[in-house]
Amino acid sequence: MPATVISGKLLSRELLQSLAQPIAALAARGIIPGLSVVLVGEDPASISYVTGKEKDAREVGLNSETLRLPVSTSEADLLALIARLNADPKVDGILVQLPLPSHIRSERVILAIDPSKDVDGFHPISVGQMVLGGRSFLPCTPHGVLKMLEKTGIPLVGAEVVVVGRSNIVGKPLALLLMQAPYHCTVTVCHTRTRDLAAHTLRADIVIAAAGKPGTVTAAMIKPGSIVIDVGVNRVSDSSKASGFALVGDIEYAAIAEKASFVTPVPGGVGPMTRAMLVHNTVKAACQRHGVAFEG
Ligand code: NAP
Repeated sequence: MPATVISGKLLSRELLQSLAQPIAALAARGIIPGLSVVLVGEDPASISYVTGKEKDAREVGLNSETLRLPVSTSEADLLALIARLNADPKVDGILVQLPLPSHIRSERVILAIDPSKDVDGFHPISVGQMVLGGRSFLPCTPHGVLKMLEKTGIPLVGAEVVVVGRSNIVGKPLALLLMQAPYHCTVTVCHTRTRDLAAHTLRADIVIAAAGKPGTVTAAMIKPGSIVIDVGVNRVSDSSKASGFALVGDIEYAAIAEKASFVTPVPGGVGPMTRAMLVHNTVKAACQRHGVAFEG
């Protein structure tokens, strides 16, 4: 039987709609959550991500602004902007789009963000709280993946999960979250030095591909009935598209969709979930700042 496709497009709509109540509670006090996204330079993929983030935030009624800075911006100027946003009472969430130009140290910039406004969940305090199982801002992509897994309705407790990729923004936090309550999964993390990737993925109930390489996980590498989440977003040339490229994930989608029980598409899978979790974190930040109850 073909796999059920978990639509990030639909699920993210539901998640955004579920924020209507706290947004209304804030509005009753005259508060509109504010999100500031900082983009340095003109990387086409970053511009497209930032545009999507702003669109989602505006759709649910947030005050969202994108601050576009030239690629020549100095680290000192960027840090001064962060200090201004930290002090601005109208700003609840700050996101600096990565990657930054190589002359700017991203770790310095992330460290400068007020942790109470760290809606990307990358500040060491947020990461530390996540490791310790606390109630920090969870990083948006891993959080979105967790929401997708919850949606399958399958019992996650004790499930064998293989995460392909160990980056600080996807693989590592996903593994850390999945091993903790309430998920209690048994997690294996694979990377480029893993000796036999297929040996791990073949025994997994859930495979999460976050390698950034098309075709990393093939149908021959998964067991029938498993759940396959594709985080990868890769541009491959495609002369049939006006843009000259198509977006593909990290998995052999068509063949895996015939063998798995659940699969996520690219585009329309993890991407929209990532954006929805950013809005979620911004509303959460505004609620925390103003003492309004927030679930999740
Ligand atoms: P990254 O920093 O490049 O990390 C990739 C990870 O995958 C590394 O740990 C690497 O191992 C591992 N890897 C690469 N090729 C592999 C292979 N053949 N076998 C096993 N492991 C392999 O990338 P990232 O930032 O985590 O992003 C991963 C993908 O997700 C990218 O396509 C990115 O565009 C996408 N992404 C999507 C969203 C979204 O919202 N949909 C958000 C973030 C990222 P080593 O550590 O050994 O090098």
